[in-house]
Amino acid sequence: MRVFATVFIFLCFCLQAQTIKQCQQRFSTYLNFHGSLNGSVKFSENSLSYFNPQGKKEYTFYEEELPALSLFFEQSTPAQQEALLRTKGLKPLSKKQLDSLYNASQKKYPVASDQLMPLKGMKIALDPGHFSTNLADAQAEQKFLFFVKDSASGNPDTVKLFESLLTFHTATILKGMLEEQGAIVFMSRNEADHTSFGCNFKTWMRNHRKRTLDSLLKAGNMPPEKHRKLQKCNEYTFFWDFFRDYDLANRAKKINDFQPDITVIIHYNVDEKNAPWKQHTKKNFSMAFIGGAYTNDNLSKTESKMHFLRMLLSDQLNRSEVLSAYTVRNFNSVLSIAIAKSQDASYLKDNCLETNSPGVFCRNLVLCRKINSVLVYGESLYQDNENESRILMRSDKDLYGVKTNERVMNVARSYYNGLMEYAQGIKR
Ligand SMILES: [Zn+2]
Repeated sequence: MRVFATVFIFLCFCLQAQTIKQCQQRFSTYLNFHGSLNGSVKFSENSLSYFNPQGKKEYTFYEEELPALSLFFEQSTPAQQEALLRTKGLKPLSKKQLDSLYNASQKKYPVASDQLMPLKGMKIALDPGHFSTNLADAQAEQKFLFFVKDSASGNPDTVKLFESLLTFHTATILKGMLEEQGAIVFMSRNEADHTSFGCNFKTWMRNHRKRTLDSLLKAGNMPPEKHRKLQKCNEYTFFWDFFRDYDLANRAKKINDFQPDITVIIHYNVDEKNAPWKQHTKKNFSMAFIGGAYTNDNLSKTESKMHFLRMLLSDQLNRSEVLSAYTVRNFNSVLSIAIAKSQDASYLKDNCLETNSPGVFCRNLVLCRKINSVLVYGESLYQDNENESRILMRSDKDLYGVKTNERVMNVARSYYNGLMEYAQGIKR
């Protein structure tokens, strides 16, 4: 009988000691958007302090607290974090408090791994972006391409693509590949046309719109005027004024409840200069986002402040950059797509901070902010590219029960390669 040596190793990527210097590097590399937070965080040799928008010093963190605090922030909710910081304020935590934080935070480490299944026991969350797979739902969400056949304007074939379908197929294939390597995989939605609430948009509107708005009003979480407006407005306005962020917050909540080691957020991009997307573009770029790029007004809500402090105190962003860099490199090599630079799109130039890894940008997107794990938010290719849209329309490949095409298959392969390379590099 062959005996395979099963090696039990410690995935201690959360236990690396943090220093004030590392926090300062993270602050300038990832978080402080063009100096916007210069007045919000101040560093000294062995401490850092956070100042509220009125300039009052609110919290001080000391170097010896950082290992326990970074672990705590990665394994708690914003409400729990706020409760701790309210009592802590400017005072150092006592030895007893630090010990109890450590003990409370001993969660998923160590994890057993084995040579045959390199991802064994690793929890990976997948978020296939968007939800519309028909033109009616897509009118609200606006995440579809529809070019009518017209050779005079350069459209030799009719193109109809729903981003939600592409992301869902990619996630389903990736799930199959990761599970074969022993990973425990969670998807934020389980049908191609479902929102994260387990039904499609039409059904949600019919069965849950009124109830949801009423309960938010009753709990004091929605002003009466907004409640009135949202009760009466059309689906398009309802989606953009409310449902989009409500669905994103629910995706983040479901993912955080799963407590993943890694989260992969899957999107397919378009050329922004090609709006309103009625014809092809010749451009095609790959890129990925991680959290960061905060401005001062992003810190007015307590929850956002807690997300910011988690990203400052823990090394989650450093690890997200590594994972994202592997992913983008695979988009480039597997799909043969150029890696985007800052000047290739206005949102990259105007809203993002460039990292040292080509094609990886800090951007304060809802999911990049709210999801409490290492993550990559991938934008593998432009769907409206003249070559891509043609192939993305096909369903001539069958993989993990998904009828799809070689492009979607290779996008899944790129995410998979990136995850495997990241997992191999984890300090064990
Ligand atoms: Zn998208």
